[in-house]
Amino acid sequence: MMDTISKPVIGIISPCYNEEQVINDTENQLRNLIVTMVASNLISDKSFVAFVDDGSKDNTWNLIETLASLNKQVKGLKLVGNVGHQNALLAGLLTFNEDADALISIDADLQDDISVIETMIQKFNTGIDVVYGVRKERTTDTFFKKNSAKLFYWLIQKLKSNMIPNHADYRLCSKRAINCLSYYNEVNLFLRGIIPSMGFTSAIIYYDRLARTAGNSKFPLRKMLSFAWNGITSFSTLPLKLVTAVGFIVFFLCLIMTAYAGIAIYTGDAVPGWLSTVLPMYFLGGIQLFSIGVIGEYIGKIYAETKQRPRYFIDKKII
Ligand code: UDP
Ligand code: MG
Repeated sequence: MMDTISKPVIGIISPCYNEEQVINDTENQLRNLIVTMVASNLISDKSFVAFVDDGSKDNTWNLIETLASLNKQVKGLKLVGNVGHQNALLAGLLTFNEDADALISIDADLQDDISVIETMIQKFNTGIDVVYGVRKERTTDTFFKKNSAKLFYWLIQKLKSNMIPNHADYRLCSKRAINCLSYYNEVNLFLRGIIPSMGFTSAIIYYDRLARTAGNSKFPLRKMLSFAWNGITSFSTLPLKLVTAVGFIVFFLCLIMTAYAGIAIYTGDAVPGWLSTVLPMYFLGGIQLFSIGVIGEYIGKIYAETKQRPRYFIDKKII
């Protein structure tokens, strides 16, 4: 046991969706890093990198198979279909947890600086369960992505979620943290919200966000917006409360308006007022539709959760 404490087995988990253009380079960099860390006695030589193929339509899985056959540090997991980044990552974490003392999750495009992995492991060795990678500056992202992300994290904080600003899914989790994660059965998975809420000891490591080396972002605007909305509604019922508050304010304004209309009629300068009738009607109609929409969003989530559909199916595992 002493040996595993001083030299932990570390697994690096990377979900891949149509990443044939980057995977060879990514594998090369991560494997070199592992070899270096094994040589410097930081980690056990059983440490590995595992690629999770999230139902790619290109050559990604074949490349993973080849890489795994050539190098003992490389493992692979093939999912039956495309289940999205969060579920693919979960599949990787839950599947490879048995083979490691801690797992580090990282995107396949290596936009997250791998040079901080060593520091993550050092933190883990001091007994910390979760180490978050947090981006310092989004210099390489587009203007839009930078600012939409800023807005998202600002909103998330206002909603009092315990999410870490500017932390994506680049993090180290100990074996026992991932064991706990396996008890969360939610279908609307939002790991960035769940993991901090488990309450394990944690640390933050800052790094610079790099540009994608090759291939395109698999998160177009549509997916990004839905991910953000999912994040908010999975973790906060504040929008529901907000709707109630807005409803109350509008009701109050209408009372004032009614009083005003009454006075206007009394003093005789009432424009035979369709405004005071029509305006609140549209206004309230709008608020009501909006509120129903928000509530509907949560009901949709409840619907998905009650079905408890499996979140992924494993096709093949290479160890
Ligand atoms: N990804 C995935 N399934 C998907 C979409 C993306 O596993 O359905 C992976 C993708 O291969 C990459 C990571 O999730 O490793 C992040 O995707 P991407 O780099 O395209 O997102 P961005 O960095 O632009 O937010
Ligand atoms: Mg990326």
